[in-house]
Amino acid sequence: MSSDGAESRPTTHANFDHNNTNGSGDRVTFISSDRVLFNLHRKNLDVTAGVFPGPEFVFASAPPAQESTAIPLQEPACVLEILFQFVYPDRRAKLTESLEFAVLAQVAETAEKYQIYSAIDACEQEFERRWLPQYALPILTHALKHGIIKLIDASALCLCITPISEVLNQGLPLQYAARWSKYHEDCRNLLFKDAEAELGTLYLSMELDNTHRSCVVAALDWMYDTSRKIRSLNDIEHYTYKPDRYRHDEFSPRCSIDLDMSGEQSCYVLEQALVSVKRRIVEIKEISFWDCYIKPIPAPKPMPQ
Ligand SMILES: [Zn+2]
Repeated sequence: MSSDGAESRPTTHANFDHNNTNGSGDRVTFISSDRVLFNLHRKNLDVTAGVFPGPEFVFASAPPAQESTAIPLQEPACVLEILFQFVYPDRRAKLTESLEFAVLAQVAETAEKYQIYSAIDACEQEFERRWLPQYALPILTHALKHGIIKLIDASALCLCITPISEVLNQGLPLQYAARWSKYHEDCRNLLFKDAEAELGTLYLSMELDNTHRSCVVAALDWMYDTSRKIRSLNDIEHYTYKPDRYRHDEFSPRCSIDLDMSGEQSCYVLEQALVSVKRRIVEIKEISFWDCYIKPIPAPKPMPQ
């Protein structure tokens, strides 16, 4: 805005100045929220966009003369310049590697609003390829809002054992709280409780000698400790990297001596606990948050055994 209070003349975006370029057909002009003009071919919009302009569309009450024919949009130019690439398929639109998550999120939301399908697809792929698990929660929220099943499942998996208070406090829509709570509980139970039960059965086994009974205690302690520390399935990769000797000296000194003497690195009881947890990671990855907890019909299927 200039010093006398009048708004400065809006500029036209260099890549979308089709009033001054070759080609035929009707043009339509949009003005971004930060007053940049975009001249586009109407026929391209007809083909590529499901809704344009969106439901919020209103004419400016007193548009300055030079932009009187421009349709005002709520988005800034930095978002529209990316989105409008997809109105021209012959330009092979793509999302650049330097695109920040916050801008991508705006582009994705705007693409949904105006139903520019090729941009919607590109944003979904980019969310999954570059921004999971770092931005799993905003991606999950976006995916739930728009019913993007593949992205719902991929982002939910990243958060499935994150403390539930954190997921809710950071913005999971409250209408999903109960279903998320069940999903989270099922995943944690599957990961640790069932594995603990297996170890409990092993502990009571008549075939187990006292040395290896102590190893079961070491394995249970490792599981308990890990279950308190991990925030995602990826973390487990870290904790399961080499748990074999985890506090073995303390819980099972006899086994430690045997391992040292034999040159072995792995105790078969701890190995079994590790295999058990890893098997359950695979099972958790097969649970679809959408299918089991969100989709209204049919009723949630039983958890895999
Ligand atoms: Zn052992």
